[in-house]
Amino acid sequence: MPPAASSLRVPTFPFSAIVGQDEMRQALLIAAVDPVVGGVLVFGDRGTGKSTAIRALAALLPPMRAVAGCPYSCDPGSPAEACPHCASGGPRRSHKTPVPVVDLPLGATEDRVVGTLDLERALGAGVKAFEPGLLARANRGFLYIDEVNLLEDHLVDLLLDVAASGVNTVEREGLSLRHPARFVLVGSGNPEEGELRPQLLDRFGLACEVVTPRDIPTRIAVVRARDAYERDPAAFCAAQEGEEKKIRKRILLARERLPEVRVPDAALERAARLCLALGTDGLRGELTLMRTARALAALDGADAVTDEHIRRIAPASLRHRLRRNPLDESGSTARVERALAEVFA
Ligand SMILES: [Zn+2]
Repeated sequence: MPPAASSLRVPTFPFSAIVGQDEMRQALLIAAVDPVVGGVLVFGDRGTGKSTAIRALAALLPPMRAVAGCPYSCDPGSPAEACPHCASGGPRRSHKTPVPVVDLPLGATEDRVVGTLDLERALGAGVKAFEPGLLARANRGFLYIDEVNLLEDHLVDLLLDVAASGVNTVEREGLSLRHPARFVLVGSGNPEEGELRPQLLDRFGLACEVVTPRDIPTRIAVVRARDAYERDPAAFCAAQEGEEKKIRKRILLARERLPEVRVPDAALERAARLCLALGTDGLRGELTLMRTARALAALDGADAVTDEHIRRIAPASLRHRLRRNPLDESGSTARVERALAEVFA
């Protein structure tokens, strides 16, 4: 974007100025440190700043170096992951670009999401005429779906597949094209407007609940921050820059530290006992618990995962994996809390 245009843009509400919503902020930070933990599902009331939080996080991350002119913003530092466009031909110029946040609208067709292969053009000109879709633009960033529970199941399935593999494959009548599509999937929704199938729920790494704050001081703080930002976004963001820098540094240090963080057997045993107590299907719960606890430890600057990390991340890692128990009508968060109390007694 030319400088003239970007200077006219209203700066994004700063991540560090978000009041409350601790669980959602923690989940997003974890995904920023280790995208392998899988997507983040944010369920809750309207107007609780779900979309603001994700944009704020992306804006806080340092700009990424990308191959100039590449529709997938390939990383010039990782030629092995290059798209077909960058893999052919010699070295290319690179530039810095903000971490993308791509919105996936509810009515989007599959073609618009994955991209289209134009067969006529491909056969006529002898070239693969591929029009990249939203997944191409989301590469190395975030893909945000508001009201993910209203999206068609097959699209959610497809998105989860691509997010897990990091590759988008488009096939049309014998022609096929693959391109990198590594992104963090963030889905938000209101459970009162429709539910996600359990098979889909289970494939999101983390699930958080956001609610409108009930206590007066928090409500006042939220309103004050929002008002100050809207009256003078530039001044508000400038005042917040010190806090933003701290979080940015914390994320970058955590990314560096992540490969060194140990997960002791004792922590895995706790995770296993917790999942057994809750009766979660398969091993995805434990795997997510391990990975998210590790990213949380890295964010804390710790060398190893402790019980405390497991405790803090267990509700977001497990609440969407519980089988419905007709004899237990308490909410999923309450059930995780109860299992935590048992296992950590
Ligand atoms: Zn490329």
